Amino acid sequence: MRAVVTGGAGFLGSHLCDAMIARGWSIVCVDSLLTGAEENIQHLANDSRFAFVRHDVCESLDIREPVDAVLHFASPASPDDYLKFPIETLEVGSLGTFRALDLARSKRARFLMASTSECYGDPEVSPQPEAYWGHVNSVGPRSVYDEAKRFSEAVTMAYHRKHGVDTRIVRIFNTYGPRMRLNDGRALPNFLYQALSGQPITVYGDGKQTRSFCYVSDLIDGILRLLDSDEHLPVNIGNPHEITILEFAERIRTLTRGQAAFLFRPLPQDDPKRRQPDITKARKLLDWEPKVTLDEGLRLTLDYFQKKFAEPRVSSS
Ligand code: UDP
Repeated sequence: MRAVVTGGAGFLGSHLCDAMIARGWSIVCVDSLLTGAEENIQHLANDSRFAFVRHDVCESLDIREPVDAVLHFASPASPDDYLKFPIETLEVGSLGTFRALDLARSKRARFLMASTSECYGDPEVSPQPEAYWGHVNSVGPRSVYDEAKRFSEAVTMAYHRKHGVDTRIVRIFNTYGPRMRLNDGRALPNFLYQALSGQPITVYGDGKQTRSFCYVSDLIDGILRLLDSDEHLPVNIGNPHEITILEFAERIRTLTRGQAAFLFRPLPQDDPKRRQPDITKARKLLDWEPKVTLDEGLRLTLDYFQKKFAEPRVSSS
């Protein structure tokens, strides 16, 4: 079995490559390295079941061998990244999704697209079930990601309905773990980096907004179960353990035995006030639920960050 993973050198994509290789798949990893890093897949470079192609998925993909699955994970995903690359984010969610679906269609391969809890925008219901249509500002700064992913879901369903492509959609909630970039601007890398370097911990707004953080191995397990299932409509995968950002910052400060102060900064525009996945569907359909507690996951992530932190070329900018 061979899979094409777009965004395979990214944080989630590279973990997906690892997990699929461990299950006997061959992988063609396609990544433009806009926000991904070769370092994330270096350990696979000499594996005969792994091939890396540096390529922008917005351009059509020519793969000679048979392909059994296409997993579309290419996209900037951190708010800082997608605000820095707004056009690229819109392109990969639209053109990139078309190209990835065209590949799946021509190869008669199964297709899975990485969607997001950002489809729910700043939600007015909590927790968010898949049936909730969301509350998105289509002209705000975050819309480049939110609307790209909503469009991507729409194209995926259109290829399923019109062309009979065997599609899956996973709505991914905040996920963390090794291989997040130290400087990607998200809460966890910022807090860990700041705590380790003794800098003030930047809390946006009053820190009362909530998120629910899922450890990466749990997420990947859920995605592979979804790939094996017959479900075409979106499925939430995330950890329902909801926590305020201030509590989260406190956990990280305690874990690192840091003394750093909190520095309150303005809340970014349209920053969701609450986010918590309703995972009833994943529980029933995939017999899946997360296993790694926040404390365990944070310890595993801290190990990785400490190693990275010790490398001379790491910078916070
Ligand atoms: N956040 C923060 N300080 C930071 C980075 C992020 O307080 O240095 C907040 C951010 O405003 C949001 C939450 O942490 O409310 C999660 O942000 P992240 O960028 O990790 O992901 P999001 O869920 O917004 O996509």
